[in-house]
This record gives sequence, structure tokens and C-alpha cells, in this order.
Amino acid sequence: MTDQTEAPPKLIYAKLAVIGCGLIGSSMIRAARAKGIVGKVAVADANAQHRERIEALGLAETVTADAAQAVKDADLVVFAVPVMAMGEAMAAAAPGLKAGATVTDVGSVKGAVCEALADAAPGGVFVVPGHPVAGTEQSGPDAGFATLFENRWTILTPQSRDDAPYQAALERLTEFWMALGARVELMDESHHDLVLAVTSHLPHLIAYTIVGAAADLEEVTEGEVMKYSAGGFRDFTRIAASDPIMWRDVFLTNRDAVLEILGRFTEDLQAASRAIRWGEGEKLEALFRRTREIRLGIVAAGQESAEPNFGRDKRE
Ligand code: NAP
Repeated sequence: MTDQTEAPPKLIYAKLAVIGCGLIGSSMIRAARAKGIVGKVAVADANAQHRERIEALGLAETVTADAAQAVKDADLVVFAVPVMAMGEAMAAAAPGLKAGATVTDVGSVKGAVCEALADAAPGGVFVVPGHPVAGTEQSGPDAGFATLFENRWTILTPQSRDDAPYQAALERLTEFWMALGARVELMDESHHDLVLAVTSHLPHLIAYTIVGAAADLEEVTEGEVMKYSAGGFRDFTRIAASDPIMWRDVFLTNRDAVLEILGRFTEDLQAASRAIRWGEGEKLEALFRRTREIRLGIVAAGQESAEPNFGRDKRE
């Protein structure tokens, strides 16, 4: 007979503090609580309505607007505010941070955030920036859910320090993310920003632009854009509903990488437009076959569902 008793959860951090408890921050808390890997939880959030919801949802023992109060005695401090608010949030928390605490973030851009955190962090804490490559187009504490990070990648961009205490902090944070169900990869921050410019930032820019352009054209097509917005356009509208502040900050702080990738994309778009103009069907077909293979590869890697409409109909 097999032993059915489950091993008791292992506490990884006795106290977790989350600064900015929206979609990502609240998902981290929900997941960490579900896995039993944190003891106490404290939250600091600048938004009074969100603080009310965080209390009502019972996400944390302490809910405050004061970051320095929230981080008191915390072993892990997570900054989950918009990218351009990271430095200011770290400066507000700094007086309360305990020596030896691990400080991380979840920002979608890493170069600018690593610099802002390092500049504002007091000595004696271990700054290990990170980015969970998981999310939705929704915001706020009600939008979070415990399984958000399962089977998704979290990229950590550690500082170039090889001292043993820093390496131990990095290992513990890696263990934490893996306990939340994530796969963890270490990366240099500028490489992160280039990769994400391709896989996330440019697609969002295209979605925002296409939906904006279609809405402008609606006057020409007299309402037909919205009426017939099945398939492709509908998927773009979902992405284009993503948080305006978050995405403003992403483009302003990852400007160089986004402009580089946008330049290449514009060339490829010109090539596709030439192929259409000159009736070069074989060129178009080769492109579409190649991109279909890429999609199948993403499904095979477990990062997407092969079901029609990405299996989203079942979730709705
Ligand atoms: P969110 O749902 O809007 O939550 C952010 C929370 O932080 C809000 O309650 C916000 O209040 C609060 N806040 C803003 N500035 C603050 C400050 N200085 N001090 C304390 N609280 C502050 O945002 P999110 O989607 O979770 O994104 C958070 C971070 O995760 C961003 O850096 C983003 O780049 C990154 N990220 C997002 C996704 C995604 O899909 N959404 C995925 C991966 C990573 P207000 O509402 O009043 O501003």
C-alpha cells in the first residue's frame, strides 16, 4: 500500500510583503498561500479602493498605504507596481527593510527596473529582479488567481555578484517561484528586454495600433468593424484592452529594443505588402506555412492550447 499522507508544506519565507497588489501581486499571494510556502503576508498599495478589496478578500494580515510599514520584518519583498513606479516604491519601502531581506519585482522591463531598484535599495538587502512571463489583460486584486504562474516561465535577472549570501538568496527565490508552479530561467537584463520586445511588447503595440486604426475606419465602414469583429480582430481587441499605464511604462522604458524590433518588423511588413502587390503567392504561402509551424511549436512546448480560440471559450 502506498503512503497517502502528503508531506507538510515547507515554509520558504516566514513573511512576504507585496508592494502593489493588483493582478500579479495578488496572484503571487494566492499561489503562495495555496502552496503553504509563506507565513504572514503584508501588502502596501497606493489605491484605497484596491486596499478595501484586498482586505475583503482576506489576502493579507496587514494592508496599508505605507510601504515601509508593510516590509517590516519581511524576508521577501515583491514590488508589483507599474515599471516606472518601481524606484519610487523602493524608496518608500527602504526605511522599513530588514537586513538580509530578499527584494524582487515582477516588472515587464528589466534594464530600467534593475537600475531603479539598485539605486534606491539600502545596503544589506539582496536585490534579485524578476519577471513572470504570465498575465492577462485585466488589472487589480480581483483579477488575480492562484494558478497564473503554473507551467509559465519566470525570468530572473540577478545582479553580477557571486558572493555566497547573494547566491543563497537567488536560490531561495528560485525555489519560491518553482513552488508557485513556474519554470525559472536566469538571464541578462538587456537580453530579457530584447526577447520580450519581440514576444510581448511588439505584439501589444500592433494590437493597440490595429484596434485604434479599425475604430477610426469605423466611420468609413459604418459600424461594420465592430459588427463583424470575429476571429482575428477579436483577439487583437483582447490584447488591446491591457492596462494603459502598465503598457505606457513598458514602451517608455524599453524604447531602444522596441524600436529595433519595430524597424525589422516594418521591413518584413513591406516585403509582405510587395508580395501581395506583385501576386507572389508562393512567397505568402511560404511565410504562412512557416508561421503555422511556429504556432505548433508553441503548443508543443506547453505554452498554449491547441484548441480552437486557444481553449478560451471553456474558461469564459
Ligand atoms: P495592477 O493590476 O494595475 O496592480 C498594480 C497595483 O499597484 C495597483 O493597485 C496600483 O494602484 C498599485 N500602485 C501603483 N503605484 C504604486 C506605488 N508607488 N506604491 C504602491 N502601490 C502602487 O498591475 P499588474 O498588472 O499587476 O502589473 C504589475 C507589474 O507586473 C507591472 O510592473 C507589470 O509590468 C508587471 N507584469 C504585468 C503582467 C500583466 O499581464 N498584467 C504580466 C507580467 C508582469 P493604482 O491602480 O491606483 O495605480
